[in-house]
Amino acid sequence: MDFFDNLLDEEHGMLRESCRRFAEREIAPHAVEWEEAGTFPRELYGRAAQAGVLGVGFPEDAGGSGGGPLHSVMAIEGLMRGGSTGVAVGLGSLGIALPPILQSGDARLVDRFARPVLAGEKIAALAITEPGTGSDVAGVRTRAVRDGEHYVVTGAKMFITSGVRADVLSVLCRTGDDPHGGLTFLVLEKDMPGVRVSRALKKTGWWASDTAELAFDGVRVPVENRAGPEGGGFLTLMRNFQNERLALAAYGAVTAQIALEEATRYARERKAFGRPILGFQATRHKLAEMATRVTAARTLTYQVAARMQRGDYVVSEVSMAKNFTADVAMSVTYDAVQIFGGMGYMRETLVERLSRDARLLPIGGGTHEVMLEIIGKQLGLG
Ligand SMILES: Cc1cc2nc3c(=O)[nH]c(=O)nc-3n(C[C@H](O)[C@H](O)[C@H](O)COP(=O)(O)OP(=O)(O)OC[C@H]3O[C@@H](n4cnc5c(N)ncnc54)[C@H](O)[C@@H]3O)c2cc1C
Repeated sequence: MDFFDNLLDEEHGMLRESCRRFAEREIAPHAVEWEEAGTFPRELYGRAAQAGVLGVGFPEDAGGSGGGPLHSVMAIEGLMRGGSTGVAVGLGSLGIALPPILQSGDARLVDRFARPVLAGEKIAALAITEPGTGSDVAGVRTRAVRDGEHYVVTGAKMFITSGVRADVLSVLCRTGDDPHGGLTFLVLEKDMPGVRVSRALKKTGWWASDTAELAFDGVRVPVENRAGPEGGGFLTLMRNFQNERLALAAYGAVTAQIALEEATRYARERKAFGRPILGFQATRHKLAEMATRVTAARTLTYQVAARMQRGDYVVSEVSMAKNFTADVAMSVTYDAVQIFGGMGYMRETLVERLSRDARLLPIGGGTHEVMLEIIGKQLGLG
């Protein structure tokens, strides 16, 4: 019996397995090389699409593989078995970039942008954060000024996952003065005159994924590239955040799970004072604590995903899952590094990489503090 079998069925298990096989075949043999290089081959997007991995959670009539939030969690768990969070999140940037396009319900936008991305022919990124504002989305200043049948876009975006290589950018722009009601999504293409990658940023973790600072200098964007109504950007973004936060919860839970497995294996192999370090009660207790936290993190993540799949309102729970799993990922990877001793500090070990990758989780997609604000509000705390 699987402890989670009341939340996951056979189909979920099979999907996770097929994504895992893809990751073990296509990513794992190159994970260290790609992490050190800070990139991975573009062709991987096409191979992931062919294997049905890229489109999980997206409707089949838009070129996806179908399924809902729980399937997306399974895909993340499988992909992470490639041993590189950077590759997984690089492949996965479409997960946050495409929903504004799909939610617009505009078939022409879906055909022009979502389909080629889901086929692995183009790369997509979501551009919300700016050099001057992150948590406070209402502070977005990238301006889109209407000029006939175009918007003229001027501004800058910061920390954009896949932004260096992306062909398609879902960009949150300011079209009006109302802090929330004046925000609109436009789809920009990398080859439009005035779109520039100002910097490829160097990071603590997620090395194989690129992260960009982008500049838009008078970019003429056809009005037909607007995703959703003018002024509807904030609402679209709030819906999108739910999926992003669930995905980050899944990354947290699986990061901790893999670190636990690695530490358990090492504790059986590594000897000190004439016996495996697993022979020390201190090690066994540490692993038992880690396993408890991992089980709680997975349970919360699956439960929230299952409720999202049913269409339930789980705004506070998804924020709780994001915060809780991020804490678990950080503490379990910390303990795993400790169990590895000196080897845990070496770049050649997976737990070293996971411990760096985990640090992003309480920051990206809304910080720990912002999640607490949301939970507090939902609980009616003011
Ligand atoms: C690797 C990486 C990838 C990313 N990918 C993307 C991407 O693809 N697209 C994108 O648009 N963005 C992306 N981001 C940006 C990310 O979403 C932001 O960094 C995050 O939302 C925090 O914004 P900030 O960095 O501006 O921090 P700030 O908003 O400046 O926050 C600084 C500190 O102040 C705290 N703070 C802010 N407001 C409050 C408050 N009301 N109450 C209490 N504390 C508060 C924060 O919690 C934080 O500790 C990425 C970031 C990283 C590091």
